[in-house]
Amino acid sequence: MNSKPITVTQPFFPPLEEFNEYLKKIWENKQLTNGGPYHKQLESELCNYLGVKYISLFSNGTLALITALQALKITGEVITTPYSFVATTHSLWWNGIKPVFVDIEPDYLNIDPDKIEAAITPQTTAILPVHVYGNPCNVDKIQKIADTYGLKVIYDACHTFGAKLNRQSIVSFGDLSILSFHATKVFNTFEGGAIVCHDEKTKKRIDYLKNFGFADETTVVAPGINAKMNEVQAAFGLLQLKYVDGLIQKRGEIASIYRKGLLQVHGITFSKINPVVNANHPYFPIFINEEIFGKNRDQVYEFLKEQNIFTRRYFYPLISQFPTYKGLSSSSPGNLTVAEKAALQVLCLPIYPDLGLEVVEEIISLIIRFQKD
Ligand SMILES: *Cc1c(COP(=O)(O)O)cnc(C)c1O
Repeated sequence: MNSKPITVTQPFFPPLEEFNEYLKKIWENKQLTNGGPYHKQLESELCNYLGVKYISLFSNGTLALITALQALKITGEVITTPYSFVATTHSLWWNGIKPVFVDIEPDYLNIDPDKIEAAITPQTTAILPVHVYGNPCNVDKIQKIADTYGLKVIYDACHTFGAKLNRQSIVSFGDLSILSFHATKVFNTFEGGAIVCHDEKTKKRIDYLKNFGFADETTVVAPGINAKMNEVQAAFGLLQLKYVDGLIQKRGEIASIYRKGLLQVHGITFSKINPVVNANHPYFPIFINEEIFGKNRDQVYEFLKEQNIFTRRYFYPLISQFPTYKGLSSSSPGNLTVAEKAALQVLCLPIYPDLGLEVVEEIISLIIRFQKD
């Protein structure tokens, strides 16, 4: 048994002395929030890094999602995926919008574009897909449907950071993309988030909305909320950004060790690798087929837990199975069989930059040993 618990993730901590330099400047500037110098600098450096023109920083990803829906005045029904973190659907609920769940496709576990049209009603105003595990959705098909039916597309891109599809940033698709900079994500600002948009007017509107609707000192143009990122968060983001390429590379190494080590294990499969994507490896999900593996996912989860290795079942239960959403009649017009199967089989293994490669090897051996037991 491991003496120290191994969690599914652990944030990267840059050298404290380096962060102190940023803090000193904040102490000199005497500005803690409301769009200070670090906030401005992080917006501009993130635009550069992500290859986009407009980004608005937020205090977290959930408020960014909620505000994105406000910014585009989304109402009625929105088509979304049940295979995600609950905040995706909660953001609809907080806007009084009815979520309509559509099944996912089996390769990447993203919303199945071929099933979207059947779920569109006269009340549908938008599609809210998620780039699950950082694998991009079928953005072309989704955009085509949106254009045909006059719908907006808002991507929950909280799993992606810096990943590209055919050399184009994944967050450049759709009307808006939402990022999370929560401590557990590939790039973090303690808590934090952002909206990526594609024109100056929209950016302005989003910036009003995240600051109570203030356009200037005496003008309130909308019922805004308080969702601003502060200077300490922004400073931490600037420091993280210097390290993030190395961190993603480290994640990639861990992912390939897992893949190599578990490839031959009967009953374990991975989600597909898209050859035109440079990935950011936020999670390492495996899928355990009980009939072939000989034990079910929960048994593997419990066994590893006994060894002090804490994996996570992302995403189980499905959002549509939580009591809040289960009661929604006709919220899933088709069946959700692909999502249900994935939710029962998925297990996310520990992956983070400081995870020792010997621990990765040990986790692989433990899984192989448990199968034979
Ligand atoms: C993390 C996450 C969120 C929420 O972001 P917070 O910054 O934690 O509020 C939303 N959607 C998905 C898919 C996420 O992974």
